[in-house]
Amino acid sequence: MAVPKKRMSRSRTRRRKAEAMKMRPVRTGRCSRCGGPKLPHRACTGPGGCGTYRNRQVVETVS
Ligand SMILES: [Zn+2]
Repeated sequence: MAVPKKRMSRSRTRRRKAEAMKMRPVRTGRCSRCGGPKLPHRACTGPGGCGTYRNRQVVETVS
């Protein structure tokens, strides 16, 4: 079984973990119906959303 030769330093461990903990901006796409911002693989909801997913009405919008 493979065994680490040297103990990894605290800074090296934390430097690696910091990469995973980094804050990244939320990836968004554009709605094909209304052009508003929307999350990928989600229906177009939220303020001003048209409530569609793949050009199909899936969420009732309050009008
Ligand atoms: Zn939309």
